[in-house]
Amino acid sequence: MTKNIPWTPNMSHSNPPTSNDPGFKAAYQEAKTGFDEGGVPIGACLVDKDGKILGQGHNMRVQKSSATLHAEISCFENAGRLPASAYRGATMYTTLSPCDMCTGACVMYKVARVVMGENNTFVGGDEYLRQRGIEVVNLKNAECEHLMKEFIKNHPEDWYEDIGEPEKAQQ
Ligand SMILES: [Zn+2]
Repeated sequence: MTKNIPWTPNMSHSNPPTSNDPGFKAAYQEAKTGFDEGGVPIGACLVDKDGKILGQGHNMRVQKSSATLHAEISCFENAGRLPASAYRGATMYTTLSPCDMCTGACVMYKVARVVMGENNTFVGGDEYLRQRGIEVVNLKNAECEHLMKEFIKNHPEDWYEDIGEPEKAQQ
């Protein structure tokens, strides 16, 4: 008989994540695709506990006039309906600190770890993720930050709309 191994939120991952992880590279490629499409350049990739990519996606608010398709939601959506067990031990790679909505999705599905490209552009639910027992890693990746800088410089109104703070576009 197989024993059910209880989910341990603070599971330790033997290898610390880096910008060379396939999951991170996929997330970054997604961000670049979004940038080339004229969208908010944020990408995400969900990797299961064995290192298999379950899905990836990028922010589609501009492209699809979507209210909810941030990179992480897009990624969950592209991964499709999965049993709850698929998320256990999984890592969500994202090029930017996840907002409240995306943080909520990661908490709800109980992913084990969130690896972000950077949080200089925006700080989302980093603290809340930790409080909920999810490991948070910031890769401090300059390329992710550069993509966002370029985008915000050219489309400040799209960015501040994306994070629900339109008044900041005027400052
Ligand atoms: Zn989000």
